Amino acid sequence: MLAKLPPFDYCQPASLKEALALMGRFDGNVGLLAGGTDLLVAMKEQKPSHRLLLDIKRVPALTAVTTDNGRLCFGAAVTTRSIARSRLVRERIPLLSQALQVLGSMQIGNRATIGGNLCNASPAADSAPPLLVLDASVKLVGEKGERRLPLENFFLAPGKTVLKREILTEIQVPAAPAQGRGVFYKLGPRGAPEDICIVSVGLFAVPDAARMIWKEVRIALGAVAPTPIRARHAEEALRGQLIGGKSGADAARLAAAKDARPISDIRGSARYRSAMVRLLVERALEQVTREISGETTP
Ligand SMILES: Cc1cc2nc3c(=O)[nH]c(=O)nc-3n(C[C@H](O)[C@H](O)[C@H](O)COP(=O)(O)OP(=O)(O)OC[C@H]3O[C@@H](n4cnc5c(N)ncnc54)[C@H](O)[C@@H]3O)c2cc1C
Repeated sequence: MLAKLPPFDYCQPASLKEALALMGRFDGNVGLLAGGTDLLVAMKEQKPSHRLLLDIKRVPALTAVTTDNGRLCFGAAVTTRSIARSRLVRERIPLLSQALQVLGSMQIGNRATIGGNLCNASPAADSAPPLLVLDASVKLVGEKGERRLPLENFFLAPGKTVLKREILTEIQVPAAPAQGRGVFYKLGPRGAPEDICIVSVGLFAVPDAARMIWKEVRIALGAVAPTPIRARHAEEALRGQLIGGKSGADAARLAAAKDARPISDIRGSARYRSAMVRLLVERALEQVTREISGETTP
């Protein structure tokens, strides 16, 4: 039998100010509805029961994509598909486009928002690894003011973020070094875009092409810890190392052994996840190495 949604009131605030005022009036007992692809499913399972849903998808402050001094700023209610298809994003940060292209089917991508993907706080959220390695930050606005923090500090646990009666309004991505190269791998049970991943890896590498060493390699992992994480041990092992040297295999081993803290669930065992972290990190490094070597050899 199909589960039914519990009864709720619905309101579509026209501005951020109105949305915040309503949150205050209902003492925080409101659900923020963006695309609804996570929230409505959860409500059918009676997880959150909200008296009022605030549909924030048409709040102008949340629906724009802007540039500012080389930074790209995404309103939280912009859909993942429109970001994936944006020419600006494909040119400047192809890694994000690559990841959002495989976030759900076309129907899901047309509803799902980037803010909803982050606020749902799934360890497997596809937007998280690319945004983490791009050093993205988030802007949170509440009745008492606003704050900005690195995305890495936004997630607390599965389904939990630092949001306190606040709305995530904007995701800001700083200009990426032009010589940097990125890659996103998503391993799902069927290899289909609708799959929630078993493991995902985002990697952004900045070479010192003249010396053929890694200036910096940022690695993020999805679905192998209570939140999406940066693989700091692996990153550290690569800094200043020879591109294409044996440090790649060492870093991949560290990502699996020291950074990932996987559990076993219906999608995969902890052992399998660890093995896949090692494999995918190594592959991601090989891929960026090939790209960089291809660009630097005559
Ligand atoms: C069939 C199916 C396939 C899917 N496949 C994938 C997949 O491949 N990869 C993947 O990562 N996800 C997948 N998802 C999950 C989901 O589509 C995404 O997480 C999506 O991006 C959620 O965005 P939304 O706008 O629909 O969020 P909503 O469902 O509207 O909201 C999600 C949560 O975030 C809160 N929220 C939303 N916006 C804000 C905001 N601006 N400020 C504060 N709180 C906010 C809501 O209150 C709610 O708690 C799938 C879901 C379904 C149903």
